[in-house]
Amino acid sequence: MKKVTMKFLPNQPLEFHKVKIVQKSYLLSPEKRFKAITKAGNNTFLLKSEDVFLDMLTDSGTNAMSDEQLAASMTADDAYAGSKTYYKLEEKLTELFGLPYFLPAHQGRACEHLIAKALVKPGMRVPMNYHFTTTKAHILAQGGIVDELIIAEGLNLVSDHPFKGNMDLAKLKKHFKSHSVKDIAFVRMEAGTNLIGGQPFALENAKEVTKLCQKYGAISVLDASLLQDNLYFIKAKESGETEKTIKEITKELCSLFDIVYFSARKFGFARGGGILLKDKKLLDVMKEFVILYEGFLTYGGMSTKEMEAIRVGIDESMEDDVISQGPEFIKYMAETLLKFNVPVVTPPGGLGCHLDARSFLPHVPSNQYPAGSLAVALYLISGIRGMERGTMSEQRESDGSERIADVELLRLAIPRRTFTLSQINYAIDRIVWLYNHRELVGGLKFVKEPNILRFFFGELTPISDWQTKLIATFKKDFKTSF
Ligand SMILES: *Cc1c(COP(=O)(O)O)cnc(C)c1O
Repeated sequence: MKKVTMKFLPNQPLEFHKVKIVQKSYLLSPEKRFKAITKAGNNTFLLKSEDVFLDMLTDSGTNAMSDEQLAASMTADDAYAGSKTYYKLEEKLTELFGLPYFLPAHQGRACEHLIAKALVKPGMRVPMNYHFTTTKAHILAQGGIVDELIIAEGLNLVSDHPFKGNMDLAKLKKHFKSHSVKDIAFVRMEAGTNLIGGQPFALENAKEVTKLCQKYGAISVLDASLLQDNLYFIKAKESGETEKTIKEITKELCSLFDIVYFSARKFGFARGGGILLKDKKLLDVMKEFVILYEGFLTYGGMSTKEMEAIRVGIDESMEDDVISQGPEFIKYMAETLLKFNVPVVTPPGGLGCHLDARSFLPHVPSNQYPAGSLAVALYLISGIRGMERGTMSEQRESDGSERIADVELLRLAIPRRTFTLSQINYAIDRIVWLYNHRELVGGLKFVKEPNILRFFFGELTPISDWQTKLIATFKKDFKTSF
């Protein structure tokens, strides 16, 4: 892969774009941040974006568009039916992914809704490497059951395994032997496995998984929302793949599967989503759902401007010096934090830098939400907004007890082409300070707790007055107004 070698700063990532339009961001004083997070019920989802300095909540819909994407948007054909823009996008995606049919949808979870509606019947099982929140919600909503068959190393937060998103093939074989294929709705592989730290799977693993699906007659599905980073890791780390182009790997990988779907809020630097299929019969079933839930077949809930932006954005993400941007900035951030002993998920994956909140705050028990507490503490001392990915993101058991999450992570997403290296350095600096004062951070408890997806809009309060002590110590050390 093309790489610029630096003699004196060997590990510095380099931006391969220049800034053309900017959005002002504001760094509030610690007092104002305290007010804002208190008003937001100590939940970073409820902060107003104008109160956030670096928004590392998610990469969904927050990647920066290029001049070429914006220019293409202006040429969009706004026809309700038969838009020229749609056919150009269809041609691009079927050619790139190597599957013959395309259906548009308004975002990733809309694709999941359509797929679950078409394939999942009550009691059916969906084996997968690991779940994603919206995927699981749609499968459960149809009465399905999620079986997670990730390799054991996938849940090991400190590791040097290059493909922690791999499916455990022995477990998958066993799954096929212990369930009738009639009871398996489909087998799902998630690229850049989101909830375990943006970890990729190997092309070899996908080949084995789809071979087993063919052997047993099961439908294989690829969630390609985070495919971009996964492609980078295949080319960078998998033996035998480094000489291939990203486009060659994309086609080889995607054409293994019966269905490929993606969120264009992530893959393609745009908005929207889509499903690619091999089977005409399934296409005809799902077409009806597109009409019913999304919109006409040639826009599926997307604006034509978005569709033009996807077409150009996906092509851009196939370039070596574009696809490498996310993973290289994440690697730099994670490896620099490691030098200061801050516990991060290793190896660094895609999507963002993930802090291991259980190791960061060993004195905060899981039922006081260490990742949620860490998110609040980091906002208080930096204005940086991250996302809790741990016990808060789980739903309580039916008897009201907490379901303790496998891993307790603070995800600091690095949207593609959005932040500069000095902003990443600022984040590192504040995180290191927080780590050195970690004993000041306490836990949280719910004061308003919704039953479903509570992490999105639940409200919490600190257990004890740890926040005022944290701010006082921070101000003594930094002596600035922010
Ligand atoms: C974000 C995401 C989705 C859902 O996409 P949206 O466009 O946000 O609805 C599905 N799968 C994975 C792996 C994702 O990261």
